[in-house]
Amino acid sequence: AVKSDASGSYQLYDADIKDTRAERRALDDALKNALESREFELFYQPILDLTTNQMWGCEALIRWRHPAKGMIPPLQFIPAAEESGLIGPIGDWILEEACSTAMTWGLPLQVSVNLSPVQFKRRDVLASVKKALSLSGLPAHRLVLEITESVKLTEEAVATLKRLKDLGVSISLDDFGTGYASMSYLRSFPFDKIKIDQSFVRGIMDSPDSRAIIKATIGLAKDLKMSTTAEGVETSEQLNALRIAGASQAQGYLIAKPMPREEVAAFIMDARKTQLSRRDEKHSLH
Ligand code: C2E
Ligand code: MG
Ligand code: MG
Ligand code: MG
Repeated sequence: AVKSDASGSYQLYDADIKDTRAERRALDDALKNALESREFELFYQPILDLTTNQMWGCEALIRWRHPAKGMIPPLQFIPAAEESGLIGPIGDWILEEACSTAMTWGLPLQVSVNLSPVQFKRRDVLASVKKALSLSGLPAHRLVLEITESVKLTEEAVATLKRLKDLGVSISLDDFGTGYASMSYLRSFPFDKIKIDQSFVRGIMDSPDSRAIIKATIGLAKDLKMSTTAEGVETSEQLNALRIAGASQAQGYLIAKPMPREEVAAFIMDARKTQLSRRDEKHSLH
């Protein structure tokens, strides 16, 4: 029944909630179906090693190739997958797919995989990682796991991270500087790498504050024996500034965009050829 005035607005509110819930259930079903129908796909974004000027590796970034809606970016479905718990099986698939793809690259590059905080809380991440490594045959030292400050570093979480490191896997702190507790976070666990968030890189040329934060982060990382990757590098000016500041690696559209498995394979083949010809040049000098 249609009510008037104040109660009418309540009814509208109720209807909105129902809509949202129905939409949400539909999204959960669609996600479950997407996993079964293999609609998820990993893109790979090359990362440049600034000390050698060669490829360091790639970050795996999930996409949903929806049959009707086209390519859907992760921020539009990962949160729902986290709430429904589906991130568990999706996360296992991501690990297995990324590790087995890295085995096809023909160069011993690193592969970096994002871990959801929910995977940490609800899943046996250690078992998932061990399984992905043994199924693919990827040596543990080629796998990097990225976590953000949204993972609560409880005693249990720290113990899990330590056991992952004992396997030979590296642990990277993603989006550094955007969370609430960056400094105490660094003190809680010996990360191998800090990824400097793209919001700071974006400001490196024009904002003295961003530049100061980047410089300080790189210096801090060095003292803590951690390496640094600058994210979101879009211009050669930014890349130069990051080189001068001493960043270990750079990642961003300037170097390459995230691309499908086949395209990144071709990109790596090219990188391999230039590395080989550089080596030949060196040899012919002697
Ligand atoms: P992230 O891990 O910080 O990934 C970097 C994001 O920056 C990616 O967005 C990438 O496409 C984008 N990016 C790279 N270079 C540039 C650049 O030069 N300029 C700009 N403007 N953007 C750049 P994407 O792929 O949309 O992923 C967004 C976030 O979604 C990721 O942030 C990560 O937190 C999450 N995510 C992506 N893939 C996965 C996954 O497989 N599992 C989990 N749990 N989360 C994922
Ligand atoms: Mg990441
Ligand atoms: Mg990031
Ligand atoms: Mg991010």
